[in-house]
Amino acid sequence: MSFNNFIEPFKIKSVEPLFMTTVEQREKYIKEAHYNPFLLHSRHVMIDFLTDSGTSAMSSEQWAGIMRGDESYAGAQSWERLEAELKDLTGYPYVIPTHQGRAAERILYGYLGGKGKTFISNTHFDTTRANIEFSGAKAIDIPCIEAENHESDYPFKGNMDVAKLDELITKYGVNNIGAVILTVTNNTGGGQPVSMENAKAVAEVCKKHKVLFIIDCCRIAENAYFIKKKEKGFENKTYRQIAQEMFALADGCAMSAKKDALVNMGGFLALKNEELATACTNLLIITEGFATYGGLSGRDMEAIAIGLREVFEDDYLEYRIMSTTYLGEQIKAKGVPVLYPIGGHAVYVDAGALYPHIPAHEYPGQTLVCELYKLGGIRAVEIGSVMFGKYDENGKLIPSPMELVRLAIPRRVYTKSHFDYVVEVFDKIVQNKATTKGVKIVKEPKFLRHFTAHFEIL
Ligand SMILES: *Cc1c(COP(=O)(O)O)cnc(C)c1O
Repeated sequence: MSFNNFIEPFKIKSVEPLFMTTVEQREKYIKEAHYNPFLLHSRHVMIDFLTDSGTSAMSSEQWAGIMRGDESYAGAQSWERLEAELKDLTGYPYVIPTHQGRAAERILYGYLGGKGKTFISNTHFDTTRANIEFSGAKAIDIPCIEAENHESDYPFKGNMDVAKLDELITKYGVNNIGAVILTVTNNTGGGQPVSMENAKAVAEVCKKHKVLFIIDCCRIAENAYFIKKKEKGFENKTYRQIAQEMFALADGCAMSAKKDALVNMGGFLALKNEELATACTNLLIITEGFATYGGLSGRDMEAIAIGLREVFEDDYLEYRIMSTTYLGEQIKAKGVPVLYPIGGHAVYVDAGALYPHIPAHEYPGQTLVCELYKLGGIRAVEIGSVMFGKYDENGKLIPSPMELVRLAIPRRVYTKSHFDYVVEVFDKIVQNKATTKGVKIVKEPKFLRHFTAHFEIL
């Protein structure tokens, strides 16, 4: 299979400089940042793969929409445009705008949650879990069994384990279930897609037990791409129709517009049930804003409405997924172990397998993110024992099950030549791997240590 045949389906109207740096400069910068890329200045980063969230490039149409933004407090035209777009896309009659995804989550799951409630998901994203647990409720992840094999090419590793869902609802009792949440694509589970068949099966179980079914639809366009390409019966449907078919299965959705809405800030809830929507709107007014703007400026709502049209365009989605796949396949061809198949928004490198001589307590993932920066000015994030490791009562590290590094790809930002450059950097990393040394933690906070911990090279 060839992944070389794609071009960016856009030309460039406005450019932002990349500040070019040398290896010597970057050795100094990463040392000053205590070998933690979160502590780097962005102006010292050449290719920023830290996240795909809020990092999209907007189109000329979206910028035109920014100018058209109607900033009226109530009933703005920009709100009317966004509301109409979201009703049409989701099919849900009630739309609630928020400043980003987690605000939508806090409102919905805060209201549905509380002590004694349980939420079940293919995998809760970390802000989803945090909002559920903050309400006093419990969050259970039930990814499908196929997700455990990181080498097979099973196409829908984002699926939920439906048999387990049925069991858990019965075990906890229908009245104690806050909601069932299907995250598409499954971000925490490697950006792997969910099939329509799985979404249908989840919907059936939810209907049978009469429990609320919510879609976390941050990347539903990217998910639709995989359904059209890999699931039988969807070849002739448009990506938008596929997304609409999935929305129709659920009772509502929560979205961070920072992903597939192709904007830098925004989010929303959309719901079928009037009573639930009214309760959420009341909470919205307390902390986000009036019902016709939530946490958003008129211009933001305009850009989201346009972005949600553009994201389903054939040429865009083809380019989007092809470019992620291209990067993953190319670095795999250099002998770098990557999780398989390549997901929609990110490539995950198995740093534990790349550096078998570096034990978990010397953090192979952190080692790789430092090497990527030093050799290429590339910023990526460790998803391994720095992020998820814990200590036992004797202060010994309990490692994370995998030592991964995530290269999250911003939308419409980097070109194929940038990707080719990244592949070259990986080539160097492979050449140097036998002599690459691990790191140790010299300073760490109690919680979320990956953001601020200090390291030294061993
Ligand atoms: C980003 C994300 C969120 C949270 O959205 P924010 O806009 O960052 O608050 C929730 N769920 C998923 C799957 C996400 O990727």
